[in-house]
Amino acid sequence: MHKHEEPKGVKVSPREGNALLQGIVICGHCGQFMTVHYHLYRGKPSPDYMCQREGIQHGKSFACQAIVGKHIDKAIGELIVELMSPVTLELSIAVQKEREQRWQESDQSWQQQLERARYETELAKRRYLKVDPDNRLVSCTLEADWNEKLEVLNKLHEEHENYKTQKISKSPNYSKKKLWN
Ligand SMILES: [Zn+2]
Repeated sequence: MHKHEEPKGVKVSPREGNALLQGIVICGHCGQFMTVHYHLYRGKPSPDYMCQREGIQHGKSFACQAIVGKHIDKAIGELIVELMSPVTLELSIAVQKEREQRWQESDQSWQQQLERARYETELAKRRYLKVDPDNRLVSCTLEADWNEKLEVLNKLHEEHENYKTQKISKSPNYSKKKLWN
């Protein structure tokens, strides 16, 4: 037994790995997509890009070519960092902040509209309840007014729910950390 040797051929699930080019590297020899395999390097999964589709398809165990991914990933990582300069990063964060602020402002405006509609409905209801039931004409008018206000309130509620659903589906879900990793 070679006790101090790195374990070879240890299977690491692709989900645990972090190869940058997973699923997008094309083999320069045959034009097939290359797959990513990981081996443990100093206890950490390190990617290898392998072209072995031919081999799998024809039941052969050879790889068309295999490239150690560590160095490629390093170069690509540096390129990404260069492209994603601090200015770009700050811009995208500013855009996100701006968007959140707008959502917040429009939410406040929703709350105000709802509050007002609730108040007016309550007022109409009280007016209706106060009127002498014998005074049918006035009573009818006030009841209709109350119903109308209720309808407005319900519609507003419904619109607000729709708006909130849209907001969730459109809301940006990335963070500074995710941009880098
Ligand atoms: Zn190939």
